Amino acid sequence: MPEKVVIIGSGPAGWTAAIYAARANLQPLVFEGAVREENRLKGTLPLGQLALTTEVENYPGLPAGSSREYLRTALPPDRQPYWVQENLPQPGHGINGPEMMELMRQQAVNFGTRIITDDIDRVDFQRHPFTITALGGQAVEALSVIIATGARANYLGLPSEDRYKNHGVSACAVCDGALPRFRNKPVVVIGGGDSAVEESTYLSKFASKVYLVHRRDKLRASKIMQDRAFANPKIELKWNRALDEVLGSPPPVGVSGVRLGSTVGGAAEELPASGVFLAIGHTPNTDFLRGQVQLDAAGYIVWTKPQRCWTSVEGVFAAGDVADSYYRQAVTAAGTGCMAALDASRFLSH
Ligand code: NAP
Repeated sequence: MPEKVVIIGSGPAGWTAAIYAARANLQPLVFEGAVREENRLKGTLPLGQLALTTEVENYPGLPAGSSREYLRTALPPDRQPYWVQENLPQPGHGINGPEMMELMRQQAVNFGTRIITDDIDRVDFQRHPFTITALGGQAVEALSVIIATGARANYLGLPSEDRYKNHGVSACAVCDGALPRFRNKPVVVIGGGDSAVEESTYLSKFASKVYLVHRRDKLRASKIMQDRAFANPKIELKWNRALDEVLGSPPPVGVSGVRLGSTVGGAAEELPASGVFLAIGHTPNTDFLRGQVQLDAAGYIVWTKPQRCWTSVEGVFAAGDVADSYYRQAVTAAGTGCMAALDASRFLSH
């Protein structure tokens, strides 16, 4: 028997779609992604980008407060955060990204969602029921599919950046920032959006200094985040600068500095740094679709009808950042996850 709904992806869009589909009695099957080194390096591990962030302050319904008792009672012991398991002080003021994702996952499980921890290798949307094949070889047939695979952080593509990945170059301060190599040493963050400011603020807890390097003379980040960066004595803005080269020695030594070019015709500059953190936007995770669904020029899935999560294939729906290069918020991803589940439910009942 084909599955009624298969959901690919495990961020807020995927779990919200699963919660709605499960409550509509559609017995959803979620492919949550695989725990593999390649995914760790790319930033595409299960639970998505929120699992790589710190505190979430803007998700409605989760104000700052003690979350210990809630996390302890809502999650099974093996999925509780370390600080709850080990009875350590709460690390922040409210809920953080990984905790929020565990809660969403658990909510989907509570309503009967089944989960397979694997990546999707390929899909066949030419024939109905659709076929979805996982990297491990498991193939399932599905009457409807919701794609919620999100997006991943970009790199600049410099050879020197590649050389030092895992040896000082990273696109995830929250994952790597606390490593001993960065402690009490200067680090560099590239970018000018909310991510760059968030990463800089986070890194300032460990590093002796954070150089925030931006290619223009104005940040793109929201006002509240900008104010935080300007008020932080450890963060120094480097305006109108671009990363020309990551300097260092062969691993295990790794990064020792950067050479920054000028975007306004000034002289180049070298800075000492133990790490370089990229925060320059994202790429949608649509490689596995291999032309089976219409994508835009940047690779995002195209929603083919306003106010709907429809794609170019009837019965295949998209939700979250994989189809949204504009809003890209946890709450908007969750919203479209709900919409995609309702769309799938209506498609199945017709
Ligand atoms: P973003 O807003 O697209 O910003 C990307 C930044 O990288 C821009 O400042 C851009 O410069 C720069 N950039 C892009 N390509 C570059 C290149 N090749 N070389 C040098 N610089 C380059 O991305 P984001 O900061 O990841 O944020 C994405 C979304 O998530 C936004 O909607 C944001 O509000 C949200 N977000 C929110 C929070 C929060 O509220 N706590 C935290 C993180 C992210 P230009 O400005 O010159 O284009």
